Amino acid sequence: MDIVQIKCPNCGAPLMFDPAAQKHVCEYCLSDFTKEEIEKTNAIADESADTYSIPDRELQDEFNQHTNLYICNSCGAEIISDENTAATFCCYCHNPVTLKGRLTGECRPELVIPFKHTREQALEMYKDWCKKKWFLPSDYTSAQQLEKITGLYVPYWLADCTVNAEMNAEAKIIHTRTSGNYRITNTKIYNVERAATMEYLGVPADASKKLDDKLMDSVEPFDYKAFVPFSMAYLSGFYADKYDVDKAEVLPRIRTRVEQGCQDILRNDVHGYTTVTPNFKRTQIIRTNWHYTMLPVWFMTYKYNGKDYLFGMNGQTGKIVGMLPVSMPKLLGFAAGLFAVVGVIAGFIGGAVL
Ligand SMILES: [Zn+2]
Ligand SMILES: [Zn+2]
Repeated sequence: MDIVQIKCPNCGAPLMFDPAAQKHVCEYCLSDFTKEEIEKTNAIADESADTYSIPDRELQDEFNQHTNLYICNSCGAEIISDENTAATFCCYCHNPVTLKGRLTGECRPELVIPFKHTREQALEMYKDWCKKKWFLPSDYTSAQQLEKITGLYVPYWLADCTVNAEMNAEAKIIHTRTSGNYRITNTKIYNVERAATMEYLGVPADASKKLDDKLMDSVEPFDYKAFVPFSMAYLSGFYADKYDVDKAEVLPRIRTRVEQGCQDILRNDVHGYTTVTPNFKRTQIIRTNWHYTMLPVWFMTYKYNGKDYLFGMNGQTGKIVGMLPVSMPKLLGFAAGLFAVVGVIAGFIGGAVL
C-alpha cells in the first residue's frame, strides 16, 4: 500500500497529523491546516506545479562553477563573488576571508535588483551624507575607511501568499435622545460577518542570519519594478551573501505581516456603526509561492573605541541607515563652545543690569 504523504502548502515539508487538535501540522514553518483547508489547497496546487520554482539545472551549474565562496574565520560570514572578483576582507567585521571553493547546492537567485550606482558614485553619496553629521570621528571618511565600503547583494525570500480570513464582529448603533427628564439610549446590536480570500505578492524577508533584521527592515523599501532575471553579469565587481535562512524559517515573520494586513482590510470594510468589536475566527495562509532574490546594499563597518558600527545604504534608492559613532573630543569641543557662548551672554546681561 502506498503511503500518501501530505506536504505543507507553504514550505513543502511533510505534514504531521495532530489528533488532539484534529489538524495537519507543519513542524518547520508552524502552519496548521484542517482537512477541508488541505483539500482546498490541493485543488489550487494542482493548477501550478510546485510552491518553489527550482532553477534550471544548467543555469544552476553555471552559477556554481563561476562563483567563489569565501568564509570569514572571525564572524563566520560566507561571501560569494564571481570568479573574477576576489574577496579579501569580510564586509561585516573587516577581518581577512579565506577562499573555501566553489558553491554546491541550489542557491542561484531567481531575480535580482541590480546596483544602480557605481562604487565611485556611491562613495560620493556617502561623503555628502557624512558632511551633514557633525560629531562623526574625523577619519570616518578617510581614504582607508572608504576602501571598506562593499557592494553586497543581500539574499531575500519573497513570498506570494494566498490567505483565507474570516471575521465576525459585534457591531452597535447607539442613538441617544432626551425626552423631558429622561435620557433614552437606543442600542441596536448586529452580528457582522466578513470572509475573504486575498493574494499578497512579494512579501519580503531577508535570508541572512548575519544581518540585523532591524537594519534590513530600515533599509527598505525597494522598488520591485526593477527586478530582472538573475544573470552572472550582475555579480561582477560586487559580492553576495550566501543565504543561510530557509524559507520555512522566515514564514512566521511573513505570516505576522500578512495576517495583520488581512485583518485590517476586513475590519476596515465594516462601516456605519457606532462601535465594532472584531473577533477574527481564523486567518490562514493556505498557499505560498516563493522567489529567491537578491537586493543591493552598500555596507561599511567602522571600528571606534573597540566597538563595531555597521551602516548600510540602499543600493537602489541611496537611503542610508545604521548606528553612527560619536566623536567624544568633537562633542566635548562643541559643548565647550556652547558654554563659552552662554558665558558671554550671561556676562552681557550681567553688565546691562549693572
Ligand atoms: Zn510548512
Ligand atoms: Zn567577518
